[in-house]
Amino acid sequence: MTVRGGVDTATRPGGIGVLGGTFNPIHRGHIHAALAVIEALGLERVVLVPAAVPPLKQSGDAIMAPAEARLAWAELAAAEHAQLSVDPLELDRVGPSYTLETIKILAERWGQPPVFLIGHDAFIDLPSWRAPETLLTLCHVAVMTRPPVRDGSIAAWLPAPLDLPFAFSEDGQVARHRTAGTWIRRLAINALDISATEVRRRLAAGEPVGALLPDPVADAVVASGLYAPVSPSQENTP
Ligand code: ATP
Repeated sequence: MTVRGGVDTATRPGGIGVLGGTFNPIHRGHIHAALAVIEALGLERVVLVPAAVPPLKQSGDAIMAPAEARLAWAELAAAEHAQLSVDPLELDRVGPSYTLETIKILAERWGQPPVFLIGHDAFIDLPSWRAPETLLTLCHVAVMTRPPVRDGSIAAWLPAPLDLPFAFSEDGQVARHRTAGTWIRRLAINALDISATEVRRRLAAGEPVGALLPDPVADAVVASGLYAPVSPSQENTP
């Protein structure tokens, strides 16, 4: 056991990870991050969970590919790695895809708290999620650093009052829930500087995306034409 600042900072290997996302589309950054966390924490596997109706990503100008297409691309990406799989459970529910509901279902199914993988960019938005204080009692959280990498710690990124039930390691990189026993830890993975936003931008500009997407995903995304450049004739259509 590793005890720092009164907090047990060790993790038991063998948990199951969950990487939820819009996956609009799934890219090499997601896959690389999932594999890096499996390696770092000794996870058994990671399940990719595409969001059907992402509660926080419904506005803006971004093209949102249909959920069925985003699911199919995630399946193509996962098929290349034995430790990755896809669960379509959020597509079977009506209404917004709240992570809380997904984690409740998976925790019950697996009989253990899932390890929820999240980029630090998304983790700092946690207060705007549904019932984050409950979510943090149902799963462990691996907070993955992602370019542009920020200095910082879980202690700094977890605002009050969400931090109240947690004890922190001295360096602030690990937090443990005093009653639920769940943990949150910052994982400095060697993340790839890839975002779905950049993938969509390149596709809309007619630029190649092979370096950003797993090969079968690149083929399927390009063939779908979903993020393709708008031709001048389409632009003039009333
Ligand atoms: P967008 O650019 O459209 O906002 P995205 O690339 O951030 O999309 P999401 O599907 O929103 O992709 O991300 C799902 C999860 O994966 C989030 O927790 C996000 O922080 C994380 N993630 C996305 N890209 C990376 C990456 N390159 N490295 C590590 N984590 C990532």
